[in-house]
Amino acid sequence: MKDQTGYDVPYQKAWYSLKMAREIVYGTWESSVQKLPAYLGAIQKYNPGTIVEWKHEGFQASTGKYAMGYVFWAFKPCIDGFQFCRNIISVDDTHLYTKYKYKLLIVAAMDGNQQVLPFAFAVVDEETYPSSKWFLQQLSRHVIRGRRGMCLISDRHGGLIKAVREGPDFVSPHGVHRYCLRHVCSNFNSTIKNVVLKDLCWQAGSEYQLKKFNRIMEEIKKHDVKAFAYLDQINKEKWTASHDGGWRCGILTTNMSECINGVLKGARRLPVSALVEITLERTVHYFHVRAIKGKKMLQNNQLWTDFACKMFISWQQKAVEHTVTKYSHAQQSASMQTRRQGRRGMNTHVVKIANRECSCGKWNQFGIPCSHAQKVCGAYNISAASIVKNYYDVMAYNNTYSKHFEPVQSKDYWDDPNFQLVHDPTIRTVTHPGRNQTTRIHNEMDWRQTRARQEAQQQQGDSSIQENVP
Ligand SMILES: [Zn+2]
Repeated sequence: MKDQTGYDVPYQKAWYSLKMAREIVYGTWESSVQKLPAYLGAIQKYNPGTIVEWKHEGFQASTGKYAMGYVFWAFKPCIDGFQFCRNIISVDDTHLYTKYKYKLLIVAAMDGNQQVLPFAFAVVDEETYPSSKWFLQQLSRHVIRGRRGMCLISDRHGGLIKAVREGPDFVSPHGVHRYCLRHVCSNFNSTIKNVVLKDLCWQAGSEYQLKKFNRIMEEIKKHDVKAFAYLDQINKEKWTASHDGGWRCGILTTNMSECINGVLKGARRLPVSALVEITLERTVHYFHVRAIKGKKMLQNNQLWTDFACKMFISWQQKAVEHTVTKYSHAQQSASMQTRRQGRRGMNTHVVKIANRECSCGKWNQFGIPCSHAQKVCGAYNISAASIVKNYYDVMAYNNTYSKHFEPVQSKDYWDDPNFQLVHDPTIRTVTHPGRNQTTRIHNEMDWRQTRARQEAQQQQGDSSIQENVP
């Protein structure tokens, strides 16, 4: 700051000034909670079909107001756009750096251009089974709405796992639950404390071929038997691309960095109404920019999105290097040998076009015929382009972003909500036994979040807050 202004302002003074400025602009957490019902009501008024659900903590007879518990919101254009996205969603969570124990959940879909679309949000308390259960119920009722074949990616938070198991959307036979590989690696490193093994853990989880996965696991075993045992006891379907069966669509993580940072850059210290406003503004921005991008793809007469075109062409170019041996005409099957490139290559893969599978595992994950499959398509005179999944179609991409948002008028035009909401500090500042108990596996990513929150609280001079230090 001294370099920029010439004044040497002590850090704490600067921080308090920033806090005061923030409160002048956005209000306090408490005033923000009071404003929230009317503001969310206004978003619904101008964008009909937008979902807002509340779970109050109780009714205060003395004030005639409800105490804030949880809130869930999903914008109508996003709910409609999600119908054209792939069968996969991720749930990210992040602590809010307020003096109260709240966290934000973000549900994101993946569009046909491999871009994250955040489309539903919730503010809940620390990760507990009840809050996860309530959140999944809202998601199921308002967003999933009976859609089958869905894959949910999340971290391995015990409350969420339990709530997911109670189904029906992400349990067999309707769907699956998969773990974020970044979280698995981070949890693994928190226990094993070895970055080399952490890298190997990432390689094992992200490898599509079974034989390569087995090779990496053997390497981990050679380094450390305990590390191997730790990973071996996690259901491999849940964390490895090689055992996944194609549910993950090539998506290994909850895309936390893009999703959380993209939506919430600098917003985690803001009170709740401002937070909702930012989720709205950010989502509107995504729709605006991507709708323009979609129009350009149409003007270019593209069949598929930029992402799919790039991947298809790169595999098409690679296909010329392969040698094919046809086996069964009925199954359109073949074995394939890749060309030697230095110490790499000379791999054999088996392709069965009728089953839409290649032993390299990539076709199944991405829904685009891999270089091996494209080569076999050529051998059997089949159009490889005709078997690209239709969620990559430019029309599907345009449909995702076809609805538009209406701006919210100033608060003079907002309707009175049919209830009043307050923040009840007795609920949020005290950890009740069995209520705010977190069941999540803590890891190094939490420590970074916890440190940042502790810093914020110390600076607020609030010594009454108890942290769940892992
Ligand atoms: Zn392949």
